[in-house]
Formats: sequence, structure tokens, C-alpha cells
Amino acid sequence: MKQLFVLCLTLGVVPGFCENRSIPVAPIALYTHFDQEPPVGVVEALHDELESIMAPMGMTFEWRSLNGVKGNELSVELAVLTFKGRCDIAGLVPHNAGNPGALGWTHVSDGNILPFSDVDCDRIRTFVQKELLGVRSPDREESFGRALGRVVAHELYHIFANTARHGSCGVGKSAYTVQELLSDDFQFEERESLALRTSKAHTVLENAAHTATPPVP
Ligand SMILES: [Zn+2]
Repeated sequence: MKQLFVLCLTLGVVPGFCENRSIPVAPIALYTHFDQEPPVGVVEALHDELESIMAPMGMTFEWRSLNGVKGNELSVELAVLTFKGRCDIAGLVPHNAGNPGALGWTHVSDGNILPFSDVDCDRIRTFVQKELLGVRSPDREESFGRALGRVVAHELYHIFANTARHGSCGVGKSAYTVQELLSDDFQFEERESLALRTSKAHTVLENAAHTATPPVP
């Protein structure tokens, strides 16, 4: 089975009956920079997949372009995502590239996990391109965007669960197969999901949601 190491990849998701689902939490601000502006279809699938994976933890996101930052934006929790290379599906060829290297990674300094992740679109595309050509042409951008969303979810797991640990299965595992990146459904296992729901970041988001509620007159 073909595998690729993804340093610091994503977040786990728990089934829809998760008991914590109803707890309101403030949104996380995601600041993005793309080397090249991606197609709308890829971006929409990326957003949808991340929301889908994180929904069981009650985590939601506000996507903001790093280029538009004025310095007066407020957010309770944030992460900065840099998408390297070309995040589109032009020029796919039916070849396996072997192991192209890490698909995504999160920055660490002195043992501290920083809220900065990189996602390598070129490597992800190269990794999945042969199988992506087997996807119906109108669905390829969505499949590719979904794969990007899974890599992003993995990296955000490291940031918001504040851990370098990996799971043995699901979005929190250290290496993905092509099939896992392109499958219809891929989520976090219970342990990684629990790590997110019980994280300090989650508590901060819950408290922010409460304090944002207008006081009763
Ligand atoms: Zn990882």
C-alpha cells in the first residue's frame, strides 16, 4: 500500500451523536496565503471538508486572507495556513510519483507547537494524481479540495490539541494513503477527537462563546 508521511496532519472527528455537539464555541480564525489563487471549486471543497471533519467537536472556522489583514481583527483562536505551489488540478498525468515528501507540516519552536502550518499542494496533487484521473472529470476539483481539507484538519489537530502525537487510524494518523485522501469519508478516531474536545483551546472557545452572549437586561 502506498503511503506518504504527512508531518503534523489533522483533526479527528467523532460520530454525529457526540454529546458535546451542542456546546457553542466561538469560531477559529484561519488566515490563509496561497502561492497561487486556487479555483473556487477546490476552495469550497476544502472549506466544506474541514467543517465536516470538525463539526463533531463543535469547531467552526472563519476563513480570512492573510493579504487582507489590517491588524485590527479580533479572534479568540487562530491559525495561519500557507498553501505552497499550485492548488489546482491542471496537468494531471497518470503516473505515480513515489513518495513526494511531507504533504503538510506545522511549525514547532523549542518544543512548542506554533499556530503556523504549511500545506504542499504540489506534493498532494503529485501524490494523488494517478487516482484522481480515475475520478469523473466534473468531480475532480471537489476530490482534490477534500484531500487538502484532510491535510489541513490534521495540522489543526496538532495546533488546537497542542500535541505532536498521532493516532493509529483516521485523520490523526501520521501517514495517509491515496485512498484515504480521496475516499468519500475520512474522520478522526475517538482518541484524537477527545483530545480536541478537551483541549485548552476548546475551553477558551467555549468561554468566548458564553461571554459573547448579550447579558439579560
Ligand atoms: Zn502530524
